[in-house]
Amino acid sequence: MGSLYLVGSKCFLNRIRPGLPNMARRAYTLDVCAELLRTQGFINGRWVSAASTFPVLDPATGKELVQVSDFGPREARDAVVAAHKAFHSWKCQTPKERSLLLRKWFDLVNQNKEDLAKLITAECGKPMKESLGEIAYSASFLEWFSEEARRVYGDIVSPAVKDRKILLLKQPVGVASIITPWNFPSAMITRKVAAALAVGCTVVVKPAEDTPLSALALAELAAQAGIPAGVVNVVPCSREKASAVGEVLCTDPLVAKVSFTGSTATGKILLKHAAETVKRVSMELGGHAPFIVFDSADVDKAVAGAMASKFRNSGQTCVCSNRFLVQQKIHDVFVEKLGRAMEAELRLGHGSDPATTQGPLINARAAEKVEHQIADAVSRGAVLLKGGKRLEGSFMQPTLLSSVTSDMLCMREETFGPLVPVMKFKTEEEALAIANASPVGLAGYFFSQDISQIWRVAEQLEVGMVGVNEGLISTAEASFGGVKQSGLGREGSKYGVDEYLEVKYVCIGGLAL
Ligand code: ADP
Repeated sequence: MGSLYLVGSKCFLNRIRPGLPNMARRAYTLDVCAELLRTQGFINGRWVSAASTFPVLDPATGKELVQVSDFGPREARDAVVAAHKAFHSWKCQTPKERSLLLRKWFDLVNQNKEDLAKLITAECGKPMKESLGEIAYSASFLEWFSEEARRVYGDIVSPAVKDRKILLLKQPVGVASIITPWNFPSAMITRKVAAALAVGCTVVVKPAEDTPLSALALAELAAQAGIPAGVVNVVPCSREKASAVGEVLCTDPLVAKVSFTGSTATGKILLKHAAETVKRVSMELGGHAPFIVFDSADVDKAVAGAMASKFRNSGQTCVCSNRFLVQQKIHDVFVEKLGRAMEAELRLGHGSDPATTQGPLINARAAEKVEHQIADAVSRGAVLLKGGKRLEGSFMQPTLLSSVTSDMLCMREETFGPLVPVMKFKTEEEALAIANASPVGLAGYFFSQDISQIWRVAEQLEVGMVGVNEGLISTAEASFGGVKQSGLGREGSKYGVDEYLEVKYVCIGGLAL
């Protein structure tokens, strides 16, 4: 088990790297500033303990890192009340004041990026390089929305009658409940919270049970930035309490808005809860991204794009490529080069080892799902070209399958793991039909050098985000979100603030003009 002890202002956490093949076991030390390693909840500007706690595990070893307060519906309600009280004064601060506070928060996240990244690696398992990348991405939303805060404009509209003026005002919706997943424990919070705060909303965050530490560290930095008590509240809880806490956050009459990122199944439950009191909702749900390589593609760029979009966070992102469709002439060379790149570039290990590119999956359940998809595909005729095995704990070998067909599980449901299933196709129409035959549509990627084809396919793919000759597309400046059952609403970009704003029509009549 990892041991935790305090030395001065530093907190040290020792863990043992799992004994993966060809890797020596060795102990190493993770040191994180004690102020950032919070284990209580944060309600109304105070750190609060719950009656019980739940363990946060290192996904690489399965060992306990720390115990965190396990809040229930009562504390969730306290947090909602605090956020509602704070809303009345926060919405009255000027956009410039809110902007400056968000900017300060951004500065503090940057100043503490190493420690924040260590927390992500500890609780989520991703390699340090990716954790640092996530912190930069997370901070970029604080920066972006600190800038957008001052650019929320209403309209003055020409009326059809002479004695009137028509004004369309933008106003904050109120308290927003923010329910987030474990795969981006920091960025999924700032992408929502920064937009909400920018326009004058207050928030109650329920982080994923696997990764509450990043959320709590962000709350600490929000307080240090001077964001007033009650504006940001964080209620961590165990999986057992998630549905009761979630119900409060999605049904309490004081909550105006629910923003969720997670699985489509959970999103549907929360939508039903929110319907009862007709709350505003944003849902960023599951994806099943097609990755199409056309004959005209630059094969090396396509391989680099596939590596980037598939193996980030060991395949555990909702925009990870999930279905690889490769046109017949380029098929063999693409598969061969991808296999070689996987061999050369991917290294399994603990996220804190600088050589690691592939950490563990979040838990055993996640690894079992990937194993099951591989077994199903092979039993239906897929050819296993690389990997295929589950190693110690929740580590999965990066896996390459060819001769994949549409009936296989991996082509019908999201994998969330390091599996590349490749299916051969003949025509553009066929590829589009396969890509679009999914009830979800978050991201899609394709590689082509044919400009007419680029336009045709970009327009016809039924997804919310398209990467053309590019495997990594997420950025604060662009809109993030999906179509079909991948969700509702958009985050980031100039549209991100709209999710937290109402448009109020004011008619001033009887004017003597
Ligand atoms: P996963 O299965 O990958 O954990 P989920 O969609 O279940 O994905 O989890 C995303 C977030 O939703 C987490 O914060 C989790 O605690 C939360 N969650 C899961 N079930 C519920 C529920 N019934 N009500 C509210 N929140 C939930």
